[in-house]
Amino acid sequence: MSSSLRGSRSSVAAIEAAVAAVPKLLLIGGEWRAAAGGRELGVEDPATGRELCRVADAPPGDGVAALAAAAEAQAEWARWAPRRRGEILRRAYEEVVARREELARLMTLEMGKPLAESLGEVSYAADFLLWFSEEAVRIGGDYALAPDGGSRLLVSRRPVGPCLLITPWNFPLAMGARKIGPAIAAGCTMVVKPASQTPLSMLALADVLERAGLPAGVLNVVVTSESGAVMEPLIRDGRARKLSFTGSTEVGRVLAGQASEQLLRLSMELGGNAPFIVFADADVDAAVEGAVLAKMRNGGEACTAANRFHVANSVRAEFGEKLTAKIRAMRVGPGYEEGVEVGPLIDATQRAKVAELVDDAVGLGAEVLTGGGAIDGPGHFFAPTVLDEVPPSARLLDEEIFGPVAPVLGFDDPEEAIVAANRTEYGLVAYLYTRDLDRALGTLEKLQTGMVGVNRGLVSNPAAPFGGVKASGYGREGGGEGIEEYLDLQYAAIAR
Ligand code: NAD
Repeated sequence: MSSSLRGSRSSVAAIEAAVAAVPKLLLIGGEWRAAAGGRELGVEDPATGRELCRVADAPPGDGVAALAAAAEAQAEWARWAPRRRGEILRRAYEEVVARREELARLMTLEMGKPLAESLGEVSYAADFLLWFSEEAVRIGGDYALAPDGGSRLLVSRRPVGPCLLITPWNFPLAMGARKIGPAIAAGCTMVVKPASQTPLSMLALADVLERAGLPAGVLNVVVTSESGAVMEPLIRDGRARKLSFTGSTEVGRVLAGQASEQLLRLSMELGGNAPFIVFADADVDAAVEGAVLAKMRNGGEACTAANRFHVANSVRAEFGEKLTAKIRAMRVGPGYEEGVEVGPLIDATQRAKVAELVDDAVGLGAEVLTGGGAIDGPGHFFAPTVLDEVPPSARLLDEEIFGPVAPVLGFDDPEEAIVAANRTEYGLVAYLYTRDLDRALGTLEKLQTGMVGVNRGLVSNPAAPFGGVKASGYGREGGGEGIEEYLDLQYAAIAR
């Protein structure tokens, strides 16, 4: 392992100041409190494997107390003027922007991504707060004459009620902001459960929202090492009215089953297996740029990460060579070191899974163009990898890799590429590169995904409806659609 992976003492000391500022407690009913029995869990720096700090670790009883607080606050919160709710989000947006660097350091420290990417995520998260501060005052209704002229149809929107929001570790701030923002805008109270690997970003955001004037009980945060034991009773409780989950399809299926008992409103942002198609007429340099972004952002630990590259055989050698050159040149190391472009994976389990998928593909005959294995030493590093000649039976074509590994496959017939792209249970996002508008439109109409990047390796935008189809889930976050997930319709038939 190169010395650049170790991190200098002074840089580590500087960023640890960010950890000190975060409340390491549960937020229940407007109070920061220790977990029952004083339980705590450790938060680790994935670049070194070292414990950064300890945080309150809620047992099931604390979860129930959080839901009780949310349920109690709901009626009054729903009566707040939309403009006042929006102003809280606006103030929180301003504070997040003002503290951007500090929040980015915190994120890098607990999650591992390079500082430049953390800065990008803080801005992305802040933009959700801004977007929904504006949406709070645009909750509309409808009033119409019935077709037979015999009555009036009045349609209004109201908050769904207390929400349960569960977020993953890979985008620890943005995944929270894009649920909390619309819930606040719509007038819902909530219990938020962040991933136990990355609770600090969420605790920091909760602190910001509290200071921005959020009333007690509207936002409750429960960090726990026992996700299932804490959340299942809340999902089955009856006081919660909605569950919004971002995480793996496997866990999403379990939670959707639990939520069926109380018929909760559901938003499920689940796993992906994004195809990245490069047609023969594509601008290969632009496709390579897009490929690096779609694959290597977040070290490949993104639901939107390109999972497999379907490249026209006529440009495959050129694409493979240029992609390999770029990926080989990427600097790997702790995200808080200057110039690092690829951080560690989140933990040893994730790294072992990526290694297993690469070994499987190589064992079946895939050619390693660069990388190919884990990097020894402290921290959970995996070498950025490009594989060519990947056989169709390789597991990494079917499973979400969640690591810095780019498998390349060739095609001759464009229709064959579209069929291959859709050959997955997932349907979150696809990417396509072509200079031919007709081909782009024809292809995107056939792709079974909730989102498509056309000559672009990044689709996320707070103003757009983010979400998937098939096993990638349902519901949308962001855009005009995002707030609808937190609103119920009421229709009144009025005799007049
Ligand atoms: P995960 O499903 O293991 O965990 C997600 C969250 O659910 C965490 O907070 C975890 O503690 C919690 N959880 C786990 N088991 C639970 C249970 N039984 N009951 C209640 N909560 C439980 O996923 P992860 O490894 O944290 O995140 C990676 C996954 O998230 C990937 O599959 C990725 O594609 C997906 N993801 C999807 C999107 C999207 O918008 N579609 C965005 C980011 C990540």
